[in-house]
Amino acid sequence: MLDFLNPIKGFGVTFRQMFRKVDTVQYPEEKKPTAPRYHGRHQLNRWPDGLEKCIGCELCAWACPADAIYVEGADNTEQERYSPGERYGRVYQINYLRCILCGLCVEACPTRALTMTNDYELADDSREALIWTKEQLVAPLQPGMEAPPHPMRLGETERDYYLLGSSGIAGASQPSDQDQAGRADE
Ligand code: SF4
Ligand code: SF4
Repeated sequence: MLDFLNPIKGFGVTFRQMFRKVDTVQYPEEKKPTAPRYHGRHQLNRWPDGLEKCIGCELCAWACPADAIYVEGADNTEQERYSPGERYGRVYQINYLRCILCGLCVEACPTRALTMTNDYELADDSREALIWTKEQLVAPLQPGMEAPPHPMRLGETERDYYLLGSSGIAGASQPSDQDQAGRADE
């Protein structure tokens, strides 16, 4: 019935669209903010005195369905301490050629060392550059933090460090816990 009107209806749709707001984003000049819980690249967080939260336990690597994480743990010593516990992550790599940004590694991490930021600009033209190292993934030092290795500044025992120091009751400095920045998994 009245089939000859169909082309006119079709052109009508096109004509209407010409006056609507454009949704195209002029990336990379213009960047649209992601959703707050967007799963972007990972971050290895620090305690408020700058020591690393990663204990080199490899649970994230075991949880990863894409086999994208490689971890080698090592023992802390009193002369060379990188984290408040017995062990730290000496080698930490994430292969972004494999990673599907699912977040299962974050769920597996027992110390909240590993979280995800909103950063999505991960493209590169070399395979080597897409294997991110610990130095690239570890969170930057915030004011009041000290680059490891150094002794536990928030308490001498683990109980004091975790319960009192990390909640700001003891310890020399109390900068903001930077792992909140850009965190997408809470
Ligand atoms: S986000 Fe998923 S795929 Fe990527 S490293 Fe973590 S567990 Fe593996
Ligand atoms: S990031 Fe978390 S789960 Fe992975 S090795 Fe470090 S402490 Fe263990």
